[in-house]
Amino acid sequence: MTRLKTAIPKSELLAQDHQHCWHPFTQAQTAAPPIPMVRGEREFLFDADGKRYFDGVSSWWVNLHGHAHPVIAEAIAQQARTLEQVMFAGITHAPAVQLAQALVQRAPAPLQHVFYTDNGSTAVEVALKMAAQYWRNQGQLRQRFLAFEGAYHGDTFGAMAAGRSSGFYTPFEDWLFAVDSLPYPHTWQGHGPSADEAESLAWLDQYLLEHGSELVAFIAEPLVQGAAGMRMVRPAYLRAVVERVQAQGIPVIFDEVMTGFGRTGTFFASEQVGVAPDLLCLSKGLTGGFLPMGATLAQPHIYQAFLSDDVGKALLHGHSYTANPLGCAAALASLQLFEEEQTLARIQAQAAVHTEQLARLAQHPRVQRVRQSGTIAAFDLQVNEQNQYGAGAGTWLRERAAQQGVLLRPLGNCIYFIAPYCTANETLIQAYQVVSTLLDELAERQGESRIASDFF
Ligand SMILES: *Cc1c(COP(=O)(O)O)cnc(C)c1O
Repeated sequence: MTRLKTAIPKSELLAQDHQHCWHPFTQAQTAAPPIPMVRGEREFLFDADGKRYFDGVSSWWVNLHGHAHPVIAEAIAQQARTLEQVMFAGITHAPAVQLAQALVQRAPAPLQHVFYTDNGSTAVEVALKMAAQYWRNQGQLRQRFLAFEGAYHGDTFGAMAAGRSSGFYTPFEDWLFAVDSLPYPHTWQGHGPSADEAESLAWLDQYLLEHGSELVAFIAEPLVQGAAGMRMVRPAYLRAVVERVQAQGIPVIFDEVMTGFGRTGTFFASEQVGVAPDLLCLSKGLTGGFLPMGATLAQPHIYQAFLSDDVGKALLHGHSYTANPLGCAAALASLQLFEEEQTLARIQAQAAVHTEQLARLAQHPRVQRVRQSGTIAAFDLQVNEQNQYGAGAGTWLRERAAQQGVLLRPLGNCIYFIAPYCTANETLIQAYQVVSTLLDELAERQGESRIASDFF
């Protein structure tokens, strides 16, 4: 019998990894060897040498309450001993029903129907398909989608199409369906309502006039574009966009895969925008960062458009692990922790630390466009286009910060923190100090050129 070896020597692990593991968003030929991680606890991860790291990006934005949280771990273990998995067609179970109820309670009214998937990309995929078939079921063939310029909605084909303007998908461009892109008027601290917002809205008015009757749906990451480099817009601007689109009966899809579950300071970013999307996509923090799971919430008028005597009008979509009981149990435990650990209050407290630390960092000559939305804190490294000073600086910073026990994942020249909510103030303040010191060091390395900056 093959047994899981827990104590493989580090060198052997890395050799085997190199031979067999294909890592995401990674150029294997030039990438540094991965860090062999062994365990997690609260905001920390520990590698094979026992070295401790602060997880400054919540493991790609999924972790909420800390690593290996005992309450979520126990909920999963109990569920695994009771009902680990069952198909979700013709069958239901308490974890799925309770979670659907809990999500609906938290989501803006009247989002009421929950469709489960496996990750953020498929949560988006389902929303796009729901919107397309919503029109088709009413006898209308609509073929245009509208998304924000620079959007990221995931890596499956529909999600890639929705994010095509980001430029991430060059090898697949010819296979992506057409999606029009709305100019994105991003703002940062001290950069108020801009002329860009008025231009974007004027563009939208003209677009709706010309193409409104062909439009399937508008999709957006509310308030913060994640992968585009933590680009933020003002709630009032986004509200104006949504109101214009919904006034024409066109569904609005909010992709809260990153912004959901408290990231922007409120439980959902939608709350700050002050509108209810017709469709809402969730994943990442849904299970507290323990298990892959997605959910797409729909308003009743969308759901009702699929009701018919004709099976062809149903949403003929599903995944083997749809509504996996383990994922549902983890999500319910995570929501319970929001109450027990007063997570929203912790979020406010962490946001205040970011505000204070960002204000100090903003003084640094290499720092620009400081910005924050709740627990999402970011700035851009100043890059001199002429002598390419700073190109690849993000990668350099990531490697140096890791050496000093801080895990970051710069997006090009955007440096950001998205920390677990349980992070101690001291941990966060120390991490800012590490970054600040590295910025000084970077200034001294002027002229040294590095290639290949990180993607994602
Ligand atoms: C990460 C992300 C996705 C994709 O989620 P996966 O679980 O990685 O497929 C989609 N939308 C947004 C806004 C994201 O940040």
